Amino acid sequence: MAMTPLKSLRARDSALASTREQVRRLESTPGLPRFDGTLAGAGLHPLRATGITVFQINVGKLCNQTCRHCHVDAGPDRAEMMSRGTAEQCMSALARTDIPTVDITGGAPELNPVFRYLVEESVRLGRRVMDRCNLSVLLLPSQADLAGFLARHRVEVVASLPSLVQTQIDAQRGAGVFEKSLEALRRLNALGYGKPGSGLVLTLVTNPVGAFLPPAQEAQERQFRERLARVHGIVFNALYTITNMPISRFLEFLLETGNYEGYMQRLVEAFNPAAADGVMCRYTLSVGWDGRLYDCDFNQMLDLPIGGGAPNHIRDFDPGHLMTRRIVTGNHCYGCTAGAGSSCGGSTT
Ligand code: SF4
Repeated sequence: MAMTPLKSLRARDSALASTREQVRRLESTPGLPRFDGTLAGAGLHPLRATGITVFQINVGKLCNQTCRHCHVDAGPDRAEMMSRGTAEQCMSALARTDIPTVDITGGAPELNPVFRYLVEESVRLGRRVMDRCNLSVLLLPSQADLAGFLARHRVEVVASLPSLVQTQIDAQRGAGVFEKSLEALRRLNALGYGKPGSGLVLTLVTNPVGAFLPPAQEAQERQFRERLARVHGIVFNALYTITNMPISRFLEFLLETGNYEGYMQRLVEAFNPAAADGVMCRYTLSVGWDGRLYDCDFNQMLDLPIGGGAPNHIRDFDPGHLMTRRIVTGNHCYGCTAGAGSSCGGSTT
């Protein structure tokens, strides 16, 4: 049976296109203990930043895919894109710090013309650069030179591969995406990505394809490593498992399938104080396509800007304030603190 291509919540005029509606749902879930109370019970409230070691830039919502679980509500119909002026403000802010890692995400961040400027400038400033890549973007005719560009600049590719099963990937990410993902991984391998001694790092990120929590990371990494090598001749450096955040299109999926309350309950039951202590917002600053500042990409997608009186636009970047800021939290944060936590340092596209 042919799959219907998905459109963004925005394109479908869904009630959940409103971030206010998403937050309302999350904060009024019957029987759900408030996240801040759970955090207080673990002695972690209020959550505070411990510094900034990751400067995450979300360059916008344009993407060549429309995945069912996308927390960004990205897609080909989304026009929000970071301008060159805002990208320059990002780089001048970065230059005033010694933040070691720049993490570029979207949408498909490579489709924004400022992507290559951000990579080149970050590398010139001596920073490690990560590209949150959906893999299929590498096969677009307009991006024929992208893999070579990434390799030349020694960009770490952090690639989404939710499953090893074609039908599951195609159902979640679009028809034909499984084969495209494998072809993109082979191209990256051919350039040295994932190969010992090349220094070109290829990290895979996998997330459950349904309303359940991810299995243990080590076991899943072993399974991916063995099967990708044996069946497809593909190698990679590391695999991270992440929990699907109950926001945006995954929230829609949970609500439509009647899984929302059960999923939230599972997240609450799996609350892990150690994971809460190490959540990425404590060491990350997230910049939106329009230059606004957030504690993480998830807060960005819920329109929850940084609080505590710190300047909230990149043009007013004030590292002193930001490094110890109080983090804005809510019930969606249960997605980061369940089990072993989501350890890839952010979201993938
Ligand atoms: S959703 Fe964001 S603010 Fe909440 S715990 Fe996760 S990283 Fe921190």
